[in-house]
Amino acid sequence: MHVLLVEDDPELSEGIVSFLRGQGDTVVHETDGMRADQLLQTGTFDFALVDVGLPGLGGYEVVRRIRSRQQIVPVMLITARDALDDRIYGLDLGADDYLTKPFQLAELTARMRAVLRRGRRSMARSLVFGPLMLDLEGRLATLEGQALSLSTREWTLLEALAGAEGRTVPKEQLQADASGNAVEVYISRLRPRLEQGGLLIRTVRGFGYRLELASGG
Ligand code: CA
Repeated sequence: MHVLLVEDDPELSEGIVSFLRGQGDTVVHETDGMRADQLLQTGTFDFALVDVGLPGLGGYEVVRRIRSRQQIVPVMLITARDALDDRIYGLDLGADDYLTKPFQLAELTARMRAVLRRGRRSMARSLVFGPLMLDLEGRLATLEGQALSLSTREWTLLEALAGAEGRTVPKEQLQADASGNAVEVYISRLRPRLEQGGLLIRTVRGFGYRLELASGG
């Protein structure tokens, strides 16, 4: 896999890089938090190992920015600190795991594998929102157990709305892959069918849409 290592300790970095490369991973090594943040915005990494104490931008802030961009790359924080508060803080920010120095390289990769396994398990094969179920592999939608026939475009919209778990999805995000036709058209086609099953698509003016359970539903 393609790993980003953000660590400013030369000796530790060298050890991690050669260990990961030895097991067939490709590694990009960065020592500065700000530059790592830029790399993360443009690069596609399968895993990010991020030291907490970094020049430029601290590791916590790097993680916070990754998650605020809604990036789903697995992140493991590396730090010399072992205070419980720090660990909780890092995990709260969206890190998947936390490794305290010093550690064995074998432990590092075992923990990375565990994070990846967890990610695969939680990677949704289906999306459920109230009475709505989207089987992502079979591309089947059901509402209250009844099959819901959707066009490709309607499916994409509904998947985005259901995946947001009740949060508002910006209109631009829904528009991004629209093929000419306005989002409103598809939303208005979906609405009556969803309402039968107790779901409504709420318009958040000037921003976007969100999926809600109709009151009492
Ligand atoms: Ca450091």
